[in-house]
Amino acid sequence: MVRVKEQETAFEPSARFSRQLQLLGTEGQRKLNDSTVFIAGIGGLGGTAAIYLAAAGIGKLIIAHEGQISLPDLNRQILMDNSKVGETRIDCAVESLKRINPEVCVEAYPERIHYERAKIWVQSADIVIDARYDFPERYELNRLCVDYGKPMVEAAMYGMEISLTTIVPGKTPCLACIYPDQNHPWEPLGFPVLGATSGIAGCLAAIESIKLISGIGTPYANKLYRIDTLNFSAYSVSIKRNSNCNCCSGKEE
Ligand SMILES: [Zn+2]
Repeated sequence: MVRVKEQETAFEPSARFSRQLQLLGTEGQRKLNDSTVFIAGIGGLGGTAAIYLAAAGIGKLIIAHEGQISLPDLNRQILMDNSKVGETRIDCAVESLKRINPEVCVEAYPERIHYERAKIWVQSADIVIDARYDFPERYELNRLCVDYGKPMVEAAMYGMEISLTTIVPGKTPCLACIYPDQNHPWEPLGFPVLGATSGIAGCLAAIESIKLISGIGTPYANKLYRIDTLNFSAYSVSIKRNSNCNCCSGKEE
């Protein structure tokens, strides 16, 4: 049998993306299509980021989140469904994302973030979004991103406040530079959450990821962006690398 070499075909964006091509260009859209984003946690924040990345035409999402859907999740976890209470979160998330954009490839794991287990997910991704609620897992993810040189969009919320920065290993402060000593575990349902606020944080993480992948705009690096959605105030503070950081010191570029 004679094999005919497959002709490289030019990328033609689907009509689904016609309204965003003026922003991203065909090349930017192709980059999204060719990219993989690992979202650690698909709750109120990560789930919203996943929705908008799927809708924007990301090629592949890797998602990880443990456990079953419970009623207190439903004020913010909009990938979940009231009819699925008691069922596995990750399965429901995959179904929802496929409904939004059946062309997005979704790889899903019903698990927390542990260094050895999550290594392959980070290695496979172009960008990582940290959307875990507690610091021990955030630190594990941060260390993986530093070790494997993957940009990480660090998004968090508490009550009606949001914070966001982009960590570029070797160039910007890492999570441990910014928060060196937060190793106490957090109770997942132990802090206040408004769904609309976690949704904004998820949208910001999705926008930042799309910017990083497509090359538009300026990454939100070396600054910590804070928004108080209660009083509609926002500010940013400059952040610097810690030369004694227990995670990234000695790994300068
Ligand atoms: Zn550091």
